Amino acid sequence: MITANQRFEKRDLLVLWHPCTQMKDHETSAIIPIKKAHGVWLEDMDGNHYLDAISSWWVNLFGHANPHINAALKDQIDTLEHVIFAGFTHEPAIQLAEKLVELSPEGLVRCFYADNGSAAVEVALKMSFHYWRNKGYTQKTKFITLENSYHGETLGALAVGNVPLYKETYAPLLMDVITVPGPDCYYRETGESWFDYSVRRFSLMEETLQRYADSACAVIIEPLIQCAGQMRMYDPIYLTLLRAACDKYQVHLIADEIAVGFGRTGTLFACEQADISPDFMCLSKGLTGGYLPLSAVLTTDAIYQAFYDDYQKLTAFLHSHSYTGNALACRAGVATLDIFQQQPILENNKRLAAIMSRLVVRFNEHLHIAEVRQTGMVVAIELVKNKYTKEPYPWQERRGQKVYQYALSKGVLLRPLGNVIYFMPPYVITEEQLIMLVEVAFDAINQAIKD
Ligand SMILES: *Cc1c(COP(=O)(O)O)cnc(C)c1O
Repeated sequence: MITANQRFEKRDLLVLWHPCTQMKDHETSAIIPIKKAHGVWLEDMDGNHYLDAISSWWVNLFGHANPHINAALKDQIDTLEHVIFAGFTHEPAIQLAEKLVELSPEGLVRCFYADNGSAAVEVALKMSFHYWRNKGYTQKTKFITLENSYHGETLGALAVGNVPLYKETYAPLLMDVITVPGPDCYYRETGESWFDYSVRRFSLMEETLQRYADSACAVIIEPLIQCAGQMRMYDPIYLTLLRAACDKYQVHLIADEIAVGFGRTGTLFACEQADISPDFMCLSKGLTGGYLPLSAVLTTDAIYQAFYDDYQKLTAFLHSHSYTGNALACRAGVATLDIFQQQPILENNKRLAAIMSRLVVRFNEHLHIAEVRQTGMVVAIELVKNKYTKEPYPWQERRGQKVYQYALSKGVLLRPLGNVIYFMPPYVITEEQLIMLVEVAFDAINQAIKD
């Protein structure tokens, strides 16, 4: 007998092409049709449950089918779904921008909307370049980025990223960027602190800024965690030093908080931990609580003013997306920020982060785990062939994929990045659910290292 899951899977595989997937893998591994979801749980067509330990690709904050966000959206859909955002505006877009300006680091006072993270990165890159052009610095055309960084999949965003798996194939299509070795603390010396290593590595960035000050528009960086780059982490001091150096050499700082924003690192925005304000801050993912595609680029009055002039001067930022400022998405954003403002979310996260930290201590002793690292609500476990030399497993063995399959069979959705297993759960997760999650991950790792 064919189950409901199998029926949907069959239909899916006839017409669909899924993201970031070698579709042939689905000859041997199931694609799972989800019927509904609630809180941290996904439920498939056959009635199996999966704990969403990765917040559905880092977007969900307060659980699936969150009552507060649901109610706001139900109200919004009977009022206004969408309207052209040039020449027109609406309350959800204004309210969300007001809240973002209020909650974001000081000096970020303007909000430009796009509809996904990659598009926000494109906007920030174009705005930075265009600012310098409007100001007469036409020789500033380059961007500086870090090794192992990730900023999205569209060609501009891909160009300023540095994860070879996503980038190499398209290299001939991409603009040239200046790539600087990063502060990834996985590579620090034994006994060296995150702080010391991050400071030491900054000298390479300082040199680069000095060298390219005349030709560089901006440095783009993921504050505190390089998420798609296997959840590699560094100390806030790097951001503090970077802000000072960008000021010194007159280069913009673009903070890509698309993944780390909205409480993931312990503070609402990761930049707060370095007490800095970037010139541009890109937001998406958690912005709508994981409900709808939306992104925002926040910037300063100085940037805004460089575009503000008579039409004939041709200094305007003529960039748009059809769904710019979508009313439903903005309303979901407002409802999401309401929750942050009405409930002690960050305090509660501190408690959850401490529980996670305690639960993963056991992984430290494991013979095939080189490092367990954590920043706020993100924990990553580095699975390796040799703990002492950090020699990785050959990627062809796909150990992480084995972790994924085993965990699924036990009702947990993990989606390792290569051989790095990580937890980035919705903030509504309970201690009991965390215990279950860590238990399954531990067993999954032991299964994946066999033979
Ligand atoms: C996910 C991500 C992006 C791209 O966002 P999309 O909405 O997937 O296009 C950009 N930067 C970072 C840091 C991300 O994690």
